[in-house]
Amino acid sequence: MEIGGLEKSTLIDYPGRVACTVFLVGCNFRCPFCYSSELVLPEKILRQPKISGKEFFDFLRERKGLLDGVVLCGGEPTLQKDLPDFIKRIKDLGYLVKLDTNGSNPEMLELLIDKKLIDYVAMDIKAPMENQKYDRAAGVKVNLEKIKKSVEMIKNSGIDYEFRTTVIPGIHTREDIIQIAKDIGPAKKYYLQNFRPEKTIDSKFEKIKPYPKEFLSEVRKEISRFFEVCEVRG
Ligand code: SF4
Repeated sequence: MEIGGLEKSTLIDYPGRVACTVFLVGCNFRCPFCYSSELVLPEKILRQPKISGKEFFDFLRERKGLLDGVVLCGGEPTLQKDLPDFIKRIKDLGYLVKLDTNGSNPEMLELLIDKKLIDYVAMDIKAPMENQKYDRAAGVKVNLEKIKKSVEMIKNSGIDYEFRTTVIPGIHTREDIIQIAKDIGPAKKYYLQNFRPEKTIDSKFEKIKPYPKEFLSEVRKEISRFFEVCEVRG
């Protein structure tokens, strides 16, 4: 398992829990607005200092009783073939596990859900379920059937979950967000995250001015009927 970073304590990444966040390297998307190029672009991954499995599990053993959970973030964690074993080792130490995913690997997701290896899933919804829009937001050609399958699987899994979208001027219009809500709703939780123009994969995005918070709050009101919880973050 290639670990490209570890945030030792977070109160925000795992709702209601004190957790650490582990960053796994590699991603099959190239979202132009991505903040984590060091975990995505192969040439940058090479330069990123790695944390060994031993270091990570020593850390988890030391923090037992102080942390509730571990957030697996990326990159895209489901690309790691040894993810189930890695999670099993984490759970054997008594931690809850939250997975952050782009939803492109429903096969791995199914395995993790079936084996009861994850306690919470956060899936990014990049755009409405239209090929052109999704491909543009993800920066690659996306198999939308897989994305849709992941959405349905998560909704029917019985485990806690959220969907979320980073909202970016030039990528999303108000109508796009409403369409996303219709595509994924009804569902439990959906968060609109405001874009931060900082160290993006495509440097042009660093010059984009985020939508004002009021814009996101207004769209939220329009779509909240599709969700039990619908909020603006950031
Ligand atoms: S934002 Fe996109 S490119 Fe960046 S890690 Fe997530 S899915 Fe990969």
